Amino acid sequence: MIKLKGIAASGGISIGKAFYVGKEEIIVPKSKISHEDISREIYRLEEALIDTRKTIGSLQKRIADEMGYDHAQIFEVHMLVLEDRMLIEDIIMQIKNKKVNVEYAFSQSLNKYTNTLRKLDDEYLRERAFDIEDVGKRVLRRMLKQERVSLDKLKEEVVIVAYDLSPTDTVALPKDKVLGFVIDIGGRTSHTAIIARSLSIPAVVGTEIANKSVKGDEILIVDGFEGLVYINPTEKVLREYQKKLKDLSKVSKAIHISRLLKAETKDGKSIVVSANIELPEELSLIKRYGAEGIGLYRTEFLFLGRRVLPLEEEQYKAYLEVAKKVRSHSIIIRTIDIGGDKFLSKPDMPREMTPFLGWRAIRFCLANTQIFKVQLRAILRASSEGNIKIMFPMISGVEELREAKKILEECKKELKKENKKFDEKIALGVMIEVPSAALTADILAKECDFFSIGTNDLIQYSLAVDRADEKVAYLYEPAHPAVLKLVSGIIEAAHRNNIWVGMCGEMAGEVSFSILLVGLGLDEFSMPPPTIPQVKEIIRHISFKDAQKIAQGALNFSTSREVERFLQEQMKRILKNDFYKFVNRL
Ligand code: PEP
Ligand code: MG
Repeated sequence: MIKLKGIAASGGISIGKAFYVGKEEIIVPKSKISHEDISREIYRLEEALIDTRKTIGSLQKRIADEMGYDHAQIFEVHMLVLEDRMLIEDIIMQIKNKKVNVEYAFSQSLNKYTNTLRKLDDEYLRERAFDIEDVGKRVLRRMLKQERVSLDKLKEEVVIVAYDLSPTDTVALPKDKVLGFVIDIGGRTSHTAIIARSLSIPAVVGTEIANKSVKGDEILIVDGFEGLVYINPTEKVLREYQKKLKDLSKVSKAIHISRLLKAETKDGKSIVVSANIELPEELSLIKRYGAEGIGLYRTEFLFLGRRVLPLEEEQYKAYLEVAKKVRSHSIIIRTIDIGGDKFLSKPDMPREMTPFLGWRAIRFCLANTQIFKVQLRAILRASSEGNIKIMFPMISGVEELREAKKILEECKKELKKENKKFDEKIALGVMIEVPSAALTADILAKECDFFSIGTNDLIQYSLAVDRADEKVAYLYEPAHPAVLKLVSGIIEAAHRNNIWVGMCGEMAGEVSFSILLVGLGLDEFSMPPPTIPQVKEIIRHISFKDAQKIAQGALNFSTSREVERFLQEQMKRILKNDFYKFVNRL
């Protein structure tokens, strides 16, 4: 048995067979070969090219059958590259003249090819460089025997083990086949972890060496509460966890029963508890977990992994479907938050040194107004059918808000001219997730209708801790006195200016912070659906007056550990025998 300790990223326990996903990054080795090895290396090249052609041919056929001939055409370029005589001859020449291994020769020739394309004036040809890189990776993986399995074809239920798993990979997964995630890099608020929590799939991230410890088919236990992974557990550990799984399902059944009751404190303060969603599959979870609407719809997931961005009509239909399904409650649609750890295939996004500080969210939208306007028009049109609100991510100051609002007004004018219906009084919110926005909340509040605190980013930016970097995850502290001061200041500023304030960062769904956040005066909590029943139940157990006192107490400590200890004690005191239901572990 091997026991690995990582970061608890999504609560729950799962037991199942490991499914190993290779690394995305490819390291190409360089070695000298002798004269006798030349023909063997050339043979390996031909073999890899033929094999990759076969794979792409069948992929092309499948896509044509499922999605139509037009979609399958993107693979034409792949095929042309695999048959390009000039490229193949260049590789063979390098093997012969420079006496290097085929992988190295292949990657050198391919780089030459793509660099030349990137310098051309023709945009179409420039874009082909990405297709060529893509097909190049396939050939290299084939030669290096590092094939990255196609995740959309999982046949049985498995625990996914990967070095890294991008949000794009995660979107493509058949979720009903995934029992758990074990991922070597990333932190609790990396977007793959967030999706796992939304889908209630236990996950441990930051395990560092899981990809080296697992080959596939081993039995794994994923303990997403404690951040533990057991590879080939002993009989004793297995029995222990089977019992925990049983107990867990009893507890969650008990909490689940009351999920539809309102979240109202004992002294009558009503609090809205809503859901964060990323994917259309999650819509069914809203009712199932008793959410009162959607507090954050992360629309960028509609855009990921796409070669052609969704047009206005497609987006309109997607938003309309959500609006119709959640008609009785409000839906906060966040405009695309691209960048950070979520990248588009198109338009070509530059890889930045510090993407979380770079061309992300509203910054990207204000620089790509065409993409922005298509989305705003689609949201506005859908607003005629439901209670939709718009929210801008990553606003860092009021000028950005004004610029975004100007574009929104332009869209409204256009739609009016075209006689298209929309909610003229649509509410407009700002995510407060950058420290400069938190500190100027009084200014922002005068120019919008509501705030939603994005603690995932607010913590990362105020504590200078990359939210996706497992090496500094120990510094990522929601209870840090600096974070609490910012959160408390934002809520006060909102109320001073008569607007409501919610929280859609992961902190809103952490039961250990529920009393504190109620006490600070938060009006709305938005979280991954599976955590909703617990948070609602905690709110029903407390009085606002008590919570206010506790919140004031929590603001007086010097370290997050002290804050956490204090909040645990208060929770035990208030919840008494029910405490065990909320600690997320047994
Ligand atoms: C946040 O930053 O808290 C947030 C909700 O947005 P995201 O996690 O998508 O960055
Ligand atoms: Mg954010």
